[in-house]
Amino acid sequence: QAKEQGKNGYVIYTDELMHDLSEKITLEADLKNALENGEFILHYQPQICNKSGKLIGVEALIRWNHPRQGLIYPDKFIQIAEETGLITHIGEWVIKQACIQNKKWQDYHFEPIKMSVNLSTQQFLHRNLVDFVKSVINNTGLDPQYLVLEITESMAMDFDHSLHVLQQLKAIGVGISIDDFGTGYSSLSYLKKFPLDYLKIDKSFVRDIMEDINDANIVKAIITLAHNLNLAVIAEGVETQEQLDFLRKHECDQTQGYLYSKPITVEQFENRLRNK
Ligand code: C2E
Ligand code: MG
Ligand code: MG
Ligand code: MG
Repeated sequence: QAKEQGKNGYVIYTDELMHDLSEKITLEADLKNALENGEFILHYQPQICNKSGKLIGVEALIRWNHPRQGLIYPDKFIQIAEETGLITHIGEWVIKQACIQNKKWQDYHFEPIKMSVNLSTQQFLHRNLVDFVKSVINNTGLDPQYLVLEITESMAMDFDHSLHVLQQLKAIGVGISIDDFGTGYSSLSYLKKFPLDYLKIDKSFVRDIMEDINDANIVKAIITLAHNLNLAVIAEGVETQEQLDFLRKHECDQTQGYLYSKPITVEQFENRLRNK
């Protein structure tokens, strides 16, 4: 009996493994052509100023419009794109697309807002990154203060290299943000040396802010830390009014989350800009 269960367990395990593996291989193959087929799109999630209630920023979030599987979210393909090296070109497409879009909104005379773009590890370590950002800023004519690049703590493990890259990006005039703050394993010493503008509190801390006293205290501490270092704080994953009230009370600067809006299409976002 025990043997049989063991055997069954094994079979189920390999079935799942084979399924995951073949799905990955299929996605990997499809990913190779996705860029030239124009299958990527950006969705946009508003960032709201907690003091004024105004929409002052937006995060660009990539989605893959797969011809057979429909919309695929980044958690399913960014990792594969990193492993295959495809991420470099995909990431460049995101930066370019985001800048073109933001410039377009300014040309339509919407009030200027900051556009945040996520960098991947490979992209951050790629030696062409700084020149690429420079060329996109020049070619689109976007004022660089309206582009913010998001990195995570784990990308910046090589302190000297990261500092060098960030200083060059800073010299272009773009903003720098630490995404998912508090979830990486790095020491805090980089905070005083890196030329940063924003800390984004990871949504895992925000989620249980009203129930878990530890999360509440961590969030308060991050806000205080950020302000003492002259950084603005954005809370991500804000879903309820109670969470927003808490964050406001503790002087968190900006909010991003489902409470205000999920990431939305460019058309939906333009409606928000019109009515803001
Ligand atoms: P992230 O940069 O931390 O982005 C925030 C994620 O949280 C987004 O998921 C967003 O849809 C989700 N989110 C926002 N508000 C809420 C909320 O109130 N509740 C909950 N439960 N979730 C919320 P998404 O779009 O699936 O992206 C996942 C991750 O994929 C991003 O996390 C980022 O690390 C990565 N990613 C997205 N776009 C790009 C890109 O263009 N390039 C790279 N390299 N990575 C990207
Ligand atoms: Mg992000
Ligand atoms: Mg994040
Ligand atoms: Mg995240």
